[in-house]
Order: sequence, then C-alpha cells, then structure tokens
Amino acid sequence: MTLDAEFFRRWMAGTAAAVEADADRLTELDSPIGDADHGSNLRRGFAAVAAALEKEPPDTPGGVLALASRQLISTVGGASGPLYGMLLRRTGKTFGDAAQVSVAEFAQALRVGADAVAQLGGAAAGDKTMLDALLPGVEALDAARGEEPRVAFAAARDAAESGALATVPLRARKGRASYLGERSVGHQDPGATSSALLLRALAEAAAG
Ligand code: ADP
Ligand code: MG
Ligand code: MG
Repeated sequence: MTLDAEFFRRWMAGTAAAVEADADRLTELDSPIGDADHGSNLRRGFAAVAAALEKEPPDTPGGVLALASRQLISTVGGASGPLYGMLLRRTGKTFGDAAQVSVAEFAQALRVGADAVAQLGGAAAGDKTMLDALLPGVEALDAARGEEPRVAFAAARDAAESGALATVPLRARKGRASYLGERSVGHQDPGATSSALLLRALAEAAAG
C-alpha cells in the first residue's frame, strides 16, 4: 500500500461517499445542540471536493489535500468548513511536494493539521468538538507509526469512533452547542462524528 496521490484521492472520494450516506444522521445530531445543518454542510463540501479532484486530479498527496481544503472553505458556510479546510490544508502543507508519504509522516502531518484546528477554533480536548475525535485518532496513529497503513489507520479509526462516542457526556465549550451550556450534555457532537467518518474512510482507503 503506497500512500501516494491516488491513495489520497481515494480517501477524499470515500469521505464524500461516507458523508453522503450519513448526512441525515449528522444533521440529526446537529438538531438538539446546533442548527441542524452539519450533514448538509459537509455533503455540499465533500461533493465539491470529489468533483474537483475528478476534474483536475493533483499528482501529490499535498496537492490533493490543498485542493480539497479550498473546496471546503469555499462551499461550506458553517464553522466546520474553515475548520476542516484548515485541517486538510495544514496536513497537506506538511507533506510538501512529496510523491508519497509514510505512516509516520502521515501521523506527524495530521497532528500539525489538528493543532491548527485547535488554534483556529480556540478549542482543546474535552470541549466537545471535532477535536475529541481527531486528537485520539492522531494519538493512535502516532502509536502505530511503525505499522502497515491498513493496521495503523484502523487503529486511528477505532480511536476516533471511541472519541466521538465519548463526547456524549461532555458539556460543549466551543461553537453553537456551547450556547446551550449544561443542556449540551447527553448529546453526541456532530463534528466529532464527522471526524470519525473521515478516519473511517481513511481506514477503508487502505483496506480496499
Ligand atoms: P455551524 O455550527 O456553524 O452550523 P456545523 O454544524 O457544520 O457548523 O459544524 C458544527 C461542528 O463544528 C460542531 O459539532 C463542532 O464539532 C465543530 N466546531 C464548532 N466550533 C468549533 C471550534 N471552535 N473548534 C473546533 N470545532 C468546532
Ligand atoms: Mg450546524
Ligand atoms: Mg450552521
């Protein structure tokens, strides 16, 4: 399994498919603690990503993520657009113009991307945001940096899915859900759920 531009295009196409399939669920999660648009926001964004990548496929991993980032930022109105845009832009930028990357380089780059999300949104672990899936995913990936992509990405997926589930008892401290204060407790964060989908698509791209 080579982590080249083709792999990254498969990852993004798989994310678009996963978001499309789960859009209603993401929007439902965004109803009690948000404005019920997370699924439609990301569906629009990742459909644009998939279309752009098909039209003009970049030939490096960094190029793929840069193009995906631009599409998300220009098509998603909600908070998640700039945040996911930042994640992919900074992750991709860390790859430079490498034709392929290792699992260890991927882990390091994704950490740079997740840190940039934290900085842009002013959020930290435990604030009930997408970071609560991304950061455990990065940790697991880093711990598995010596493994095959299939094994390492499956570990990242599992950690992100656990992280998303673990947002249920948290009180939101950032984003719209934070306006609800205590009433945000008891609901799974939509952004953490979509971040788990992103890492699930990553694992699937390496498994297929
Ligand atoms: P909006 O809240 O503008 O409608 P979305 O519904 O698309 O945007 O996305 C909401 C998700 O974005 C939240 O569930 C949360 O995970 C994430 N989010 C919101 N604000 C922040 C922030 N400051 N830092 C990190 N993630 C955030
Ligand atoms: Mg919303
Ligand atoms: Mg909104």
